[in-house]
Amino acid sequence: PLTTSATTSATTPTPAAPGVSVATRDVHLAFGSTRVLRGVDLDVAAASTACVIGPSGSGKSTLLRVVNRLLEPDRGDVLLAGRSVLGDNPDHLRQRVGMVFQHFNLFPHKSVRANITLGLTRLKGLSKDEAAERALHHLDRVGLAHKADARPGTLSGGQQQRVAIARALAMEPEVMLFDEATSALDPELVKGVLATMADLAAGGMTMLVVTHEMGFARSVAGQVLFMDHGRVVESGPPEQVFEAPESDRLRQFLSQVL
Ligand code: ADP
Ligand code: MG
Repeated sequence: PLTTSATTSATTPTPAAPGVSVATRDVHLAFGSTRVLRGVDLDVAAASTACVIGPSGSGKSTLLRVVNRLLEPDRGDVLLAGRSVLGDNPDHLRQRVGMVFQHFNLFPHKSVRANITLGLTRLKGLSKDEAAERALHHLDRVGLAHKADARPGTLSGGQQQRVAIARALAMEPEVMLFDEATSALDPELVKGVLATMADLAAGGMTMLVVTHEMGFARSVAGQVLFMDHGRVVESGPPEQVFEAPESDRLRQFLSQVL
């Protein structure tokens, strides 16, 4: 790890792309007759972190998928840096918006490094050497440069999730989405992943984080959004949402998770 970090930082001045603002305006989406998103408005300022909390089935994952256009809304708009992205090429948008899932979806038969270089050579057009160098740089950022040659299966779940984060970061996104990134991890592995996410937030990334980790939301989020039945029912700074919830639904939710 010593040599790789020294080499990569000396030769790869890969500044993280500065985070840009994300917003949705009156986003609606139904699966058949099930209205899953029913007018979602959110504003995440550039370089800030918003945490989305809410009961299972409230539409949190669907909302993230609309933001990076894995799903198209029936109505409404998604804006990055104040500009609508719904007319853009979805593949291009997905390079601007990185996403980390509960299950890391790494390719098991490829090395950690190859998991990261694949997108860089195929989508970003980097040469093999450039891609390998950039992969090491981002592995170093998550403390895993020494695992570059390992197969994902030999890593802990927490390490695999940090590789997934490095893979997303290597695409130099302007926004990062996290969908319950620590929910599948053994309890002792959660902290390391949350620390990586907190570092990223402190580094100026814009982050929209669906999480059950209320401690993370309190300490890292500038804004907490409570979703229920496809709407943002309440939002505000963490101290307000956690200490002075206004709606019965939020009070009830908090009494179950805190
Ligand atoms: P959350 O992430 O808050 O648990 P989701 O966004 O995953 O909620 O799901 C919200 C609702 O939409 C749920 O009732 C779920 O069953 C439904 N849903 C999600 N994805 C699909 C789909 N592809 N087809 C049909 N229904 C779906
Ligand atoms: Mg979900």
